[in-house]
Amino acid sequence: SVHLAARMSAVQPSPTIAITRLANELRRQGRDIIGLSQGEPDFDTPDHVKAAAKAAIDAGQTKYTDVDGTPELKRAIVEKFQRENGLTYTPAQISVGTGGKQVLYNALCATLDEGDEVIIPAPYWVSYPDMVRLAGGVPVTVACGEDDGFKLTAAGLQAVITPRTRWLVLNSPSNPTGAGYTAAELRALADVLLQHPQVMILTDDMYEHIRYDGWEFVTIGAVEPRLLDRTLTCNGVSKAYAMTGWRIGYAGGPEALIRAMATIQSQSTTNPSSVSQAAAVAALTGPLEFLAERNAVFQNRRDLCLTAFNSIDGLSCRTPDGAFYLFPSCAGMIGRRRPDGRVIGSDVDFATFLLEDAGVAVVPGSAFGLAPYFRISFATATERLETACARIAAACATLA
Ligand code: PLP
Repeated sequence: SVHLAARMSAVQPSPTIAITRLANELRRQGRDIIGLSQGEPDFDTPDHVKAAAKAAIDAGQTKYTDVDGTPELKRAIVEKFQRENGLTYTPAQISVGTGGKQVLYNALCATLDEGDEVIIPAPYWVSYPDMVRLAGGVPVTVACGEDDGFKLTAAGLQAVITPRTRWLVLNSPSNPTGAGYTAAELRALADVLLQHPQVMILTDDMYEHIRYDGWEFVTIGAVEPRLLDRTLTCNGVSKAYAMTGWRIGYAGGPEALIRAMATIQSQSTTNPSSVSQAAAVAALTGPLEFLAERNAVFQNRRDLCLTAFNSIDGLSCRTPDGAFYLFPSCAGMIGRRRPDGRVIGSDVDFATFLLEDAGVAVVPGSAFGLAPYFRISFATATERLETACARIAAACATLA
Protein backbone atom coordinates (compact mmCIF):
# COMPACT_ATOMS: atom_id res chain seq x y z
CA SER A 1 0.00 0.00 0.00
CA VAL A 2 1.03 3.60 -0.52
CA HIS A 3 2.65 5.42 2.37
CA LEU A 4 1.63 9.08 2.58
CA ALA A 5 3.63 11.69 4.44
CA ALA A 6 2.29 12.88 7.77
CA ARG A 7 1.88 16.39 6.33
CA MET A 8 -0.80 15.07 3.97
CA SER A 9 -3.18 14.49 6.87
CA ALA A 10 -3.22 18.25 7.47
CA VAL A 11 -4.42 19.25 4.00
CA GLN A 12 -7.46 18.70 1.81
CA PRO A 13 -8.04 19.08 -1.90
CA SER A 14 -9.62 22.44 -2.70
CA PRO A 15 -13.34 22.39 -1.77
CA THR A 16 -14.14 24.52 -4.81
CA ILE A 17 -12.92 21.60 -6.91
CA ALA A 18 -15.14 19.19 -4.94
CA ILE A 19 -18.33 21.15 -5.69
CA THR A 20 -17.36 21.44 -9.35
CA ARG A 21 -17.00 17.66 -9.48
CA LEU A 22 -20.46 17.16 -7.97
CA ALA A 23 -21.91 19.63 -10.47
CA ASN A 24 -20.25 17.75 -13.32
CA GLU A 25 -21.76 14.50 -12.06
CA LEU A 26 -25.26 16.05 -12.21
CA ARG A 27 -24.49 17.36 -15.70
CA ARG A 28 -23.55 13.85 -16.81
CA GLN A 29 -27.01 12.81 -15.63
CA GLY A 30 -28.45 15.36 -18.06
CA ARG A 31 -29.22 18.21 -15.62
CA ASP A 32 -28.60 21.81 -16.71
CA ILE A 33 -26.25 23.08 -14.01
CA ILE A 34 -25.11 26.71 -13.90
CA GLY A 35 -21.62 26.79 -12.43
CA LEU A 36 -21.04 29.84 -10.26
CA SER A 37 -18.35 28.16 -8.18
CA GLN A 38 -15.22 28.78 -10.18
CA GLY A 39 -13.13 31.96 -9.99
CA GLU A 40 -12.33 32.43 -13.62
CA PRO A 41 -13.21 35.34 -15.93
CA ASP A 42 -15.35 34.21 -18.87
CA PHE A 43 -13.63 36.80 -21.07
CA ASP A 44 -10.99 35.73 -23.56
CA THR A 45 -7.28 36.55 -23.27
CA PRO A 46 -6.77 39.83 -25.21
CA ASP A 47 -5.70 39.41 -28.86
CA HIS A 48 -2.45 41.36 -28.52
CA VAL A 49 -1.39 38.97 -25.75
CA LYS A 50 -2.16 35.91 -27.86
CA ALA A 51 -0.26 37.46 -30.78
CA ALA A 52 2.81 37.98 -28.60
CA ALA A 53 2.75 34.32 -27.57
CA LYS A 54 2.52 33.16 -31.18
CA ALA A 55 5.40 35.47 -32.14
CA ALA A 56 7.48 34.09 -29.25
CA ILE A 57 6.97 30.54 -30.49
CA ASP A 58 7.98 31.52 -34.02
CA ALA A 59 11.04 33.35 -32.69
CA GLY A 60 12.22 30.21 -30.93
CA GLN A 61 11.50 31.34 -27.37
CA THR A 62 10.69 27.76 -26.51
CA LYS A 63 13.59 26.80 -24.23
CA TYR A 64 14.47 27.07 -20.54
CA THR A 65 14.60 30.63 -19.29
CA ASP A 66 16.13 32.21 -16.19
CA VAL A 67 14.62 30.46 -13.17
CA ASP A 68 12.46 33.26 -11.75
CA GLY A 69 11.65 35.24 -14.88
CA THR A 70 13.15 36.51 -18.13
CA PRO A 71 14.92 39.91 -17.99
CA GLU A 72 12.17 41.34 -20.26
CA LEU A 73 9.38 40.20 -17.97
CA LYS A 74 11.15 41.34 -14.81
CA ARG A 75 11.62 44.76 -16.40
CA ALA A 76 7.92 44.92 -17.32
CA ILE A 77 7.01 44.01 -13.73
CA VAL A 78 9.37 46.61 -12.25
CA GLU A 79 7.68 49.21 -14.48
CA LYS A 80 4.21 47.99 -13.55
CA PHE A 81 4.92 48.29 -9.82
CA GLN A 82 6.31 51.80 -10.32
CA ARG A 83 3.55 53.01 -12.64
CA GLU A 84 0.51 51.48 -10.99
CA ASN A 85 1.51 51.14 -7.34
CA GLY A 86 4.24 53.70 -6.73
CA LEU A 87 6.57 50.92 -5.58
CA THR A 88 10.25 50.98 -6.53
CA TYR A 89 11.80 47.54 -7.06
CA THR A 90 14.92 46.37 -8.89
CA PRO A 91 14.82 43.28 -11.15
CA ALA A 92 16.68 41.35 -8.39
CA GLN A 93 13.65 42.00 -6.15
CA ILE A 94 11.22 40.36 -8.59
CA SER A 95 10.15 36.71 -8.71
CA VAL A 96 8.03 35.14 -11.46
CA GLY A 97 6.39 31.75 -10.96
CA THR A 98 3.90 29.36 -12.50
CA GLY A 99 0.84 31.28 -11.33
CA GLY A 100 0.40 33.41 -8.26
CA LYS A 101 -0.11 30.14 -6.43
CA GLN A 102 3.46 28.97 -6.94
CA VAL A 103 4.87 32.35 -5.91
CA LEU A 104 2.92 32.25 -2.63
CA TYR A 105 3.91 28.66 -2.01
CA ASN A 106 7.60 29.36 -2.68
CA ALA A 107 7.49 32.27 -0.24
CA LEU A 108 5.95 30.19 2.56
CA CYS A 109 8.32 27.25 1.96
CA ALA A 110 11.30 29.56 2.03
CA THR A 111 10.40 31.17 5.36
CA LEU A 112 8.37 28.88 7.63
CA ASP A 113 9.96 26.68 10.27
CA GLU A 114 7.88 24.00 11.96
CA GLY A 115 5.33 25.74 14.18
CA ASP A 116 5.74 29.24 12.77
CA GLU A 117 2.43 31.11 12.70
CA VAL A 118 0.75 32.80 9.74
CA ILE A 119 -2.13 35.18 10.41
CA ILE A 120 -4.95 34.71 7.90
CA PRO A 121 -8.05 36.95 8.11
CA ALA A 122 -11.23 34.91 7.56
CA PRO A 123 -13.07 34.57 5.25
CA TYR A 124 -9.96 33.70 3.25
CA TRP A 125 -9.01 32.28 -0.11
CA VAL A 126 -9.14 28.51 0.42
CA SER A 127 -5.51 27.83 -0.44
CA TYR A 128 -3.81 29.98 2.21
CA PRO A 129 -4.28 27.70 5.26
CA ASP A 130 -3.39 24.53 3.38
CA MET A 131 -0.31 26.08 1.81
CA VAL A 132 0.83 27.16 5.26
CA ARG A 133 0.32 23.63 6.63
CA LEU A 134 2.16 22.04 3.71
CA ALA A 135 5.08 24.35 4.44
CA GLY A 136 5.12 23.26 8.10
CA GLY A 137 3.48 26.37 9.52
CA VAL A 138 0.39 26.94 11.63
CA PRO A 139 -2.45 29.01 10.14
CA VAL A 140 -3.91 31.43 12.70
CA THR A 141 -7.26 32.54 11.36
CA VAL A 142 -8.99 35.69 12.59
CA ALA A 143 -12.73 35.95 12.06
CA CYS A 144 -13.55 39.21 10.27
CA GLY A 145 -17.30 39.50 10.33
CA GLU A 146 -19.72 41.38 8.16
CA ASP A 147 -19.90 44.19 10.75
CA ASP A 148 -16.25 44.93 10.00
CA GLY A 149 -16.93 44.68 6.27
CA PHE A 150 -15.14 41.29 6.34
CA LYS A 151 -11.89 43.18 7.03
CA LEU A 152 -9.15 42.79 9.64
CA THR A 153 -9.01 45.62 12.17
CA ALA A 154 -5.93 46.91 13.97
CA ALA A 155 -7.27 45.52 17.26
CA GLY A 156 -8.01 42.15 15.66
CA LEU A 157 -4.45 42.01 14.32
CA GLN A 158 -2.85 43.13 17.55
CA ALA A 159 -4.69 40.40 19.47
CA VAL A 160 -3.22 37.48 17.49
CA ILE A 161 0.41 38.52 16.99
CA THR A 162 2.85 36.34 18.97
CA PRO A 163 6.63 35.96 18.95
CA ARG A 164 6.09 33.01 16.55
CA THR A 165 4.17 35.11 14.00
CA ARG A 166 6.06 34.99 10.71
CA TRP A 167 3.54 36.41 8.24
CA LEU A 168 0.31 38.37 7.94
CA VAL A 169 -1.62 37.57 4.77
CA LEU A 170 -3.66 40.39 3.22
CA ASN A 171 -5.90 40.01 0.17
CA SER A 172 -7.63 43.09 -1.19
CA PRO A 173 -9.96 43.09 -2.99
CA SER A 174 -10.77 39.77 -1.41
CA ASN A 175 -11.65 36.38 -2.70
CA PRO A 176 -14.33 35.44 -1.48
CA THR A 177 -15.97 38.68 -0.24
CA GLY A 178 -14.82 41.37 -2.69
CA ALA A 179 -14.04 43.59 0.31
CA GLY A 180 -11.33 46.16 -0.42
CA TYR A 181 -9.19 47.92 2.19
CA THR A 182 -8.95 51.69 2.11
CA ALA A 183 -5.63 53.48 2.59
CA ALA A 184 -6.76 54.50 6.08
CA GLU A 185 -7.53 50.90 7.04
CA LEU A 186 -4.13 49.75 5.80
CA ARG A 187 -2.54 52.67 7.67
CA ALA A 188 -4.04 51.37 10.92
CA LEU A 189 -2.73 47.85 10.26
CA ALA A 190 0.68 49.24 9.32
CA ASP A 191 0.90 51.08 12.64
CA VAL A 192 0.49 47.76 14.46
CA LEU A 193 2.97 46.01 12.18
CA LEU A 194 5.63 48.67 12.72
CA GLN A 195 5.74 47.56 16.37
CA HIS A 196 6.32 43.89 15.47
CA PRO A 197 9.42 43.55 13.30
CA GLN A 198 9.21 39.72 13.30
CA VAL A 199 6.06 39.85 11.13
CA MET A 200 6.41 39.86 7.36
CA ILE A 201 3.50 40.93 5.17
CA LEU A 202 2.28 38.87 2.24
CA THR A 203 -0.13 41.03 0.27
CA ASP A 204 -2.05 39.18 -2.46
CA ASP A 205 -3.12 41.87 -4.92
CA MET A 206 -4.40 39.45 -7.56
CA TYR A 207 -7.71 41.31 -8.06
CA GLU A 208 -6.22 44.82 -8.11
CA HIS A 209 -7.66 45.71 -11.50
CA ILE A 210 -11.20 44.47 -10.94
CA ARG A 211 -12.95 47.18 -8.92
CA TYR A 212 -16.20 49.12 -8.68
CA ASP A 213 -17.89 52.33 -7.62
CA GLY A 214 -14.67 54.31 -7.70
CA TRP A 215 -13.09 52.29 -4.90
CA GLU A 216 -9.35 52.99 -5.07
CA PHE A 217 -6.88 50.17 -4.85
CA VAL A 218 -3.79 50.71 -2.72
CA THR A 219 -1.20 48.21 -1.52
CA ILE A 220 0.33 48.26 1.96
CA GLY A 221 3.93 48.81 0.80
CA ALA A 222 2.85 52.09 -0.77
CA VAL A 223 0.94 53.14 2.36
CA GLU A 224 3.92 52.50 4.63
CA PRO A 225 7.30 52.33 2.83
CA ARG A 226 9.02 51.41 6.10
CA LEU A 227 7.35 48.00 5.79
CA LEU A 228 8.68 47.38 2.28
CA ASP A 229 11.78 45.48 3.40
CA ARG A 230 9.50 42.82 4.93
CA THR A 231 6.62 42.90 2.46
CA LEU A 232 6.06 40.53 -0.44
CA THR A 233 3.76 42.24 -2.95
CA CYS A 234 2.10 39.44 -4.95
CA ASN A 235 0.19 39.84 -8.18
CA GLY A 236 -0.38 38.08 -11.48
CA VAL A 237 -1.97 38.15 -14.90
CA SER A 238 -4.60 35.42 -14.35
CA LYS A 239 -7.55 37.57 -13.29
CA ALA A 240 -6.94 41.03 -14.76
CA TYR A 241 -5.97 39.76 -18.21
CA ALA A 242 -8.16 36.63 -18.31
CA MET A 243 -5.02 34.48 -18.47
CA THR A 244 -5.75 31.74 -15.91
CA GLY A 245 -4.42 28.98 -18.15
CA TRP A 246 -1.12 30.68 -18.96
CA ARG A 247 0.09 30.24 -15.36
CA ILE A 248 2.07 33.40 -14.66
CA GLY A 249 2.20 35.11 -11.27
CA TYR A 250 4.82 37.40 -9.78
CA ALA A 251 5.94 39.25 -6.69
CA GLY A 252 8.23 42.03 -5.54
CA GLY A 253 10.06 41.75 -2.24
CA PRO A 254 13.32 41.84 -0.33
CA GLU A 255 16.20 40.38 -2.32
CA ALA A 256 17.16 37.69 0.22
CA LEU A 257 13.62 36.32 0.14
CA ILE A 258 13.41 36.49 -3.66
CA ARG A 259 16.71 34.56 -3.90
CA ALA A 260 15.47 31.83 -1.55
CA MET A 261 12.25 31.52 -3.56
CA ALA A 262 14.33 31.10 -6.73
CA THR A 263 16.32 28.30 -5.08
CA ILE A 264 13.10 26.40 -4.31
CA GLN A 265 11.75 26.98 -7.80
CA SER A 266 15.02 25.85 -9.39
CA GLN A 267 14.61 22.50 -7.63
CA SER A 268 10.91 22.07 -8.41
CA THR A 269 9.62 23.54 -11.68
CA THR A 270 12.75 25.36 -12.99
CA ASN A 271 11.04 28.24 -14.78
CA PRO A 272 7.53 29.29 -15.78
CA SER A 273 6.62 28.60 -19.41
CA SER A 274 8.78 30.65 -21.79
CA VAL A 275 5.82 31.33 -24.11
CA SER A 276 3.60 32.44 -21.22
CA GLN A 277 6.29 34.80 -20.00
CA ALA A 278 6.45 36.46 -23.43
CA ALA A 279 2.64 36.78 -23.34
CA ALA A 280 2.80 38.34 -19.86
CA VAL A 281 5.26 40.98 -21.12
CA ALA A 282 2.68 41.97 -23.75
CA ALA A 283 -0.07 42.04 -21.11
CA LEU A 284 1.86 44.23 -18.67
CA THR A 285 3.22 46.66 -21.27
CA GLY A 286 0.12 46.75 -23.49
CA PRO A 287 -3.09 48.78 -23.54
CA LEU A 288 -5.37 48.71 -20.49
CA GLU A 289 -8.56 50.18 -22.00
CA PHE A 290 -10.19 46.76 -22.20
CA LEU A 291 -10.10 46.60 -18.40
CA ALA A 292 -12.57 49.47 -18.01
CA GLU A 293 -14.93 47.85 -20.51
CA ARG A 294 -14.76 44.52 -18.75
CA ASN A 295 -15.17 46.12 -15.33
CA ALA A 296 -18.34 47.81 -16.57
CA VAL A 297 -19.70 44.41 -17.60
CA PHE A 298 -18.66 42.91 -14.26
CA GLN A 299 -20.31 45.77 -12.39
CA ASN A 300 -23.60 45.21 -14.27
CA ARG A 301 -23.52 41.55 -13.36
CA ARG A 302 -22.62 42.33 -9.77
CA ASP A 303 -25.59 44.68 -9.46
CA LEU A 304 -27.95 42.23 -11.13
CA CYS A 305 -27.01 39.49 -8.63
CA LEU A 306 -27.00 41.86 -5.64
CA THR A 307 -30.52 43.04 -6.42
CA ALA A 308 -31.72 39.48 -6.87
CA PHE A 309 -30.17 38.12 -3.68
CA ASN A 310 -31.17 41.05 -1.51
CA SER A 311 -34.79 40.63 -2.59
CA ILE A 312 -34.91 36.96 -1.52
CA ASP A 313 -36.30 36.51 1.99
CA GLY A 314 -33.58 34.83 4.07
CA LEU A 315 -30.59 36.10 2.07
CA SER A 316 -28.63 39.33 2.39
CA CYS A 317 -25.49 40.48 0.66
CA ARG A 318 -22.95 43.22 1.23
CA THR A 319 -21.79 45.18 -1.83
CA PRO A 320 -18.26 44.19 -2.92
CA ASP A 321 -15.61 46.81 -3.81
CA GLY A 322 -13.78 44.59 -6.28
CA ALA A 323 -13.05 41.09 -7.61
CA PHE A 324 -15.92 39.11 -9.13
CA TYR A 325 -17.51 37.38 -6.17
CA LEU A 326 -20.55 37.87 -3.95
CA PHE A 327 -20.57 36.45 -0.44
CA PRO A 328 -24.21 36.49 0.69
CA SER A 329 -25.33 35.45 4.15
CA CYS A 330 -27.79 32.56 4.25
CA ALA A 331 -28.33 32.84 8.03
CA GLY A 332 -32.03 33.40 7.39
CA MET A 333 -32.31 30.04 5.62
CA ILE A 334 -30.95 27.96 8.50
CA GLY A 335 -33.73 25.84 10.05
CA ARG A 336 -36.00 26.01 7.02
CA ARG A 337 -37.38 22.82 5.52
CA ARG A 338 -37.02 21.60 1.93
CA PRO A 339 -40.08 20.22 0.07
CA ASP A 340 -38.83 16.67 0.78
CA GLY A 341 -38.66 17.43 4.51
CA ARG A 342 -34.89 17.77 4.84
CA VAL A 343 -33.89 20.66 7.10
CA ILE A 344 -31.23 23.18 6.08
CA GLY A 345 -28.85 23.08 9.02
CA SER A 346 -25.75 24.75 7.57
CA ASP A 347 -24.39 26.62 4.59
CA VAL A 348 -23.17 23.29 3.20
CA ASP A 349 -26.80 22.09 3.28
CA PHE A 350 -27.89 25.32 1.58
CA ALA A 351 -25.28 24.95 -1.18
CA THR A 352 -26.34 21.33 -1.69
CA PHE A 353 -29.96 22.48 -1.90
CA LEU A 354 -29.10 25.10 -4.54
CA LEU A 355 -27.23 22.52 -6.57
CA GLU A 356 -29.98 19.90 -6.38
CA ASP A 357 -33.12 22.06 -6.52
CA ALA A 358 -32.01 25.16 -8.46
CA GLY A 359 -29.28 23.56 -10.58
CA VAL A 360 -26.82 26.24 -9.50
CA ALA A 361 -23.36 25.43 -8.15
CA VAL A 362 -22.05 27.72 -5.38
CA VAL A 363 -19.41 27.23 -2.66
CA PRO A 364 -20.41 27.17 1.03
CA GLY A 365 -18.83 29.91 3.15
CA SER A 366 -17.43 27.40 5.60
CA ALA A 367 -14.88 26.46 2.91
CA PHE A 368 -13.56 30.02 3.28
CA GLY A 369 -13.66 29.96 7.08
CA LEU A 370 -16.92 31.87 7.72
CA ALA A 371 -20.44 30.41 8.03
CA PRO A 372 -23.29 30.58 7.20
CA TYR A 373 -22.49 32.21 3.87
CA PHE A 374 -21.93 31.13 0.31
CA ARG A 375 -19.84 32.45 -2.54
CA ILE A 376 -20.84 32.94 -6.12
CA SER A 377 -18.58 34.05 -8.94
CA PHE A 378 -20.32 36.46 -11.30
CA ALA A 379 -17.65 36.04 -13.99
CA THR A 380 -20.26 34.23 -16.06
CA ALA A 381 -22.36 35.23 -19.07
CA THR A 382 -25.04 37.76 -18.05
CA GLU A 383 -27.98 35.67 -19.36
CA ARG A 384 -26.77 32.67 -17.38
CA LEU A 385 -26.59 34.83 -14.26
CA GLU A 386 -30.14 36.04 -14.84
CA THR A 387 -31.34 32.45 -15.17
CA ALA A 388 -29.37 31.41 -12.08
CA CYS A 389 -30.88 34.21 -9.98
CA ALA A 390 -34.40 33.35 -11.14
CA ARG A 391 -33.89 29.68 -10.35
CA ILE A 392 -32.43 30.46 -6.92
CA ALA A 393 -35.40 32.71 -6.12
CA ALA A 394 -37.86 30.03 -7.23
CA ALA A 395 -36.11 27.29 -5.23
CA CYS A 396 -35.88 29.45 -2.11
CA ALA A 397 -39.64 30.10 -2.35
CA THR A 398 -40.21 26.36 -1.84
CA LEU A 399 -38.53 26.44 1.60
CA ALA A 400 -40.79 26.49 4.60
N1 PLP B 1 -4.84 34.64 -4.96
C1 PLP B 1 -6.18 34.67 -4.96
C2 PLP B 1 -6.88 35.48 -3.91
C3 PLP B 1 -6.89 33.93 -5.90
O1 PLP B 1 -8.24 33.95 -5.89
C4 PLP B 1 -6.20 33.16 -6.86
C5 PLP B 1 -6.91 32.32 -7.85
O2 PLP B 1 -8.03 31.89 -7.66
C6 PLP B 1 -4.80 33.18 -6.82
C7 PLP B 1 -4.16 33.93 -5.86
C8 PLP B 1 -3.95 32.35 -7.75
O3 PLP B 1 -3.97 32.75 -9.06
P1 PLP B 1 -3.06 32.08 -10.15
O4 PLP B 1 -2.29 30.95 -9.54
O5 PLP B 1 -3.99 31.61 -11.22
O6 PLP B 1 -2.15 33.16 -10.64
